[in-house]
Amino acid sequence: MEGIKSIYLPQFTIGEHAFEQFGPEMGKFGKTVTVIHGEKAWMASEKYVLPALENSGQKLLGTLFYGHDATHENVERIMADQRVKEADMLLAVGGGKCIDTVKLAADKLGKPVFTVPSIASNCAPITKISIMYHEDGSFCDIPRLKYVPAHCFIDPRIVLAAPIRFLRAGIGDAMAKHIESAWSAKAGETLDYGSELGIMAGRMCFLPLLRDGRQALEDAEKGTVSGALENAILNIVISPGIVSVSVHPDYNGGVAHALFYGLTSRKHIEKNHLHGEVVSYGTLVNLLLDKDYENLRLAYGFNESVGLPVCLTDLELTREDGLTDVLQVTMANQELIHTPYAVTSEIIYQAIQDLEEYGKRQKQTN
Ligand SMILES: [Zn+2]
Repeated sequence: MEGIKSIYLPQFTIGEHAFEQFGPEMGKFGKTVTVIHGEKAWMASEKYVLPALENSGQKLLGTLFYGHDATHENVERIMADQRVKEADMLLAVGGGKCIDTVKLAADKLGKPVFTVPSIASNCAPITKISIMYHEDGSFCDIPRLKYVPAHCFIDPRIVLAAPIRFLRAGIGDAMAKHIESAWSAKAGETLDYGSELGIMAGRMCFLPLLRDGRQALEDAEKGTVSGALENAILNIVISPGIVSVSVHPDYNGGVAHALFYGLTSRKHIEKNHLHGEVVSYGTLVNLLLDKDYENLRLAYGFNESVGLPVCLTDLELTREDGLTDVLQVTMANQELIHTPYAVTSEIIYQAIQDLEEYGKRQKQTN
């Protein structure tokens, strides 16, 4: 064994009374807290967060809006705020971009950060990285942080206040985590403990969501907090997060995410489609390319049943499109540095075309 290996597993609480844990969890780190939030997130969660902080025994130094994007400029602005400087800890309330921004500010200031996700769409509330963008919206970098957030508090009622699309996309993104991590390691190389743990945990992102995903979306539609909904939220936020904080970066992605980055070179993709929606299409391409027909059957059927994309038309693309620009960006993506066998743009293009045929056959048999 060389060097020191550390894994920081996420700590979290879920439930309609999750915020009652503010007191015991925050009390470990001090007495004062400043809240930094997203705009819509705060409208949906203020009525739950503020009374809970009041009861927690923490002194609230202030609440401030994080900005509009996960940028280094917003990190600097947050760090310069007196209420942030004076606080023993920070509480981030928002979506992935807000949480990533506050995580990076807290990391630079050496303060613990707590998270309250306002949407169930990604694992940002518990991971040890921040995905940062430039002010023009283009991707910037992914700084690695020293620690995971101190604790993540999930109140499903807040998640329900967000549009259902986010939950559906979150399910699609989480399911990719299993398919990609297992695929990346399938060459059979010896895995270190963290990678094996993460890849094993990745299974939680797939089968339980196949089972609960549709029910969770139906319950969310009705505004009902149910066991299926809570399970789906956990398998969107926590399970992929466990993969992310445990595995070697080689096993964190695959064709689904690389193709997503490739597809974003078409402007309408980022404009009209959520990250997880596009990734869930890429999962099908990844499975077909790998000839994993059993999981393809499951994932295809699931996507179809909940309205996630299954073909090029669903992404406003056509079969006649050569996708040369898309595949060029796909191939250059870091997600394809480590693959279990050689992956070329021709192989991906063929899988995309084969998926169209697969879809046609599905329609004929139904
Ligand atoms: Zn993703």
